[in-house]
Amino acid sequence: MTLPVMKNFINGEWVASKTTTFGDVWNPAKGEKIASVPYGVKEDVDMAVQAAKAAFPEWRATPPLTRARYLFRLKEAFEENFEAIARVLTTEQGKAIDDSRGEVRRMIENVEHATGVTTLMTGYTLEDIAKGIDCYGHRQPMGVFAAIVPFNFPGMVAWWFLPYALVSGNTFIVKPSEQVPMTQAKIFEIVEEVGFPEGVINLVNGAHEVVNGLLDHPDVQGISFVGSTPTAKYIYERCGATGKRVQALGGAKNIVAVMPDADIDAAIPSLITSFFGCAGQRCLSGSILAPVGDVAGELKEKFIAAAKNLRVGNGLDEQTAMGPLAGPQHKKRVLGYIEKGIAEGAELLMDGRNFTVPEFPNGFFVGPTIFDKVRPDMSIATDEIFGPVVSVVNPKNLDEVIELVNSRNYANAACIYTQSGATAREFKYRVNPSMVGINIGVAAPMSFFPFGGHGNSMFGDIKGHGQEIFLFFTDMKVVIERWY
Ligand code: NAD
Repeated sequence: MTLPVMKNFINGEWVASKTTTFGDVWNPAKGEKIASVPYGVKEDVDMAVQAAKAAFPEWRATPPLTRARYLFRLKEAFEENFEAIARVLTTEQGKAIDDSRGEVRRMIENVEHATGVTTLMTGYTLEDIAKGIDCYGHRQPMGVFAAIVPFNFPGMVAWWFLPYALVSGNTFIVKPSEQVPMTQAKIFEIVEEVGFPEGVINLVNGAHEVVNGLLDHPDVQGISFVGSTPTAKYIYERCGATGKRVQALGGAKNIVAVMPDADIDAAIPSLITSFFGCAGQRCLSGSILAPVGDVAGELKEKFIAAAKNLRVGNGLDEQTAMGPLAGPQHKKRVLGYIEKGIAEGAELLMDGRNFTVPEFPNGFFVGPTIFDKVRPDMSIATDEIFGPVVSVVNPKNLDEVIELVNSRNYANAACIYTQSGATAREFKYRVNPSMVGINIGVAAPMSFFPFGGHGNSMFGDIKGHGQEIFLFFTDMKVVIERWY
């Protein structure tokens, strides 16, 4: 059977890539190849940049409210296709269908937020900065921007950036993850239906060559990147070398602390979601569980009982809470970390290595895995595993928790469960990570707040979505004016 081959969407048309190299797209629950993805080449990038550049002058001159109206129509079209997008997403990525629905919802919320352009993009003015002289600054779009995105959120992440770039008057290119290109293809069918002017939004499939083509292209003004830390650092440095704006969000090692005064029973469901939702493949997933002092015994007992009850299977099954890992290489990587944890002397309380789902014997499943007696210097406590693997570290008190959080190489998210306002305040005040959850296990800012960390979790200063994103996609032009 020949597999469908993904196409690029350039200048309002679906076109074949110029490449001769292709990769596989998997259904990770079944362990079956379902599509072929072109590893695009520089010519593909050139075509897309030329189209986006040509579309820019007219799009830029289109009033912001008119641009926002395209987004209103797009939002409606996304709502009509909501379930269809979520199903494609689960089919290629593996996550539970409810997780996919949540992702599509968050994607749409960015479209909604961006429609506030007429208040969010304004500049400011001051009369009489000197006698008879006024000054004002307004925000101008800059040209062609691009997003390069990861495999774990095939739908939403590109849309942390695209709606804001577009509504500000820029034109855009999306480079999806080559592991999961089908969701954006579905989304772009809807973009096509809504009928944006040709060249305003483009999609180019591929891997490293497309990324490098975008990074080096003189007509690309800026790059929004989300992915692993080594790639984020590379993107940041190369954008520096080529003089582009850049926001590069990287990996994470998130700690979830549980204080002795926490309401354990109330906490368990959100702790389970934090560590095992999306099979641990979220940049906001809990990775280290840190019960403080004596609460460890009760917490571990209840957490393990809940983990045993977790329904693991094909994400398209409504009963499934945790799906497979997204691909074969990824499963190998996570199994490798479980072996490392054992070799380093951590105690394996729950072993997900030989986990199978009888109806899907070839799926890339790894069951919930829990290590106890993890030391902060073990690789399972320092490295991002990006799978359903929990490392339990048992700090004695809040100071030790904060030390544990701040000694990781990342500063993305940190969570605490407590019933004490004073403890929560101390925690949120002193921890480094930028996204903090208090009795919340996945501290995910919504579209109207910024998303991103710092340190090795993000290179650059303006984060994803939030109000500040309008600064990334515009240049402030300041006019100093005197009339005789
Ligand atoms: P990745 O870095 O391997 O790939 C991300 C993108 O970069 C892909 O589109 C890929 O084609 C491209 N790429 C990868 N290596 C490249 C190279 N050497 N040269 C040029 N391009 C390259 O990341 P991934 O495995 O797809 O995604 C998982 C990672 O993303 C995890 O580390 C996760 O924490 C992170 N992530 C972070 C956030 C956040 O908000 N900070 C959100 C989601 C995912």
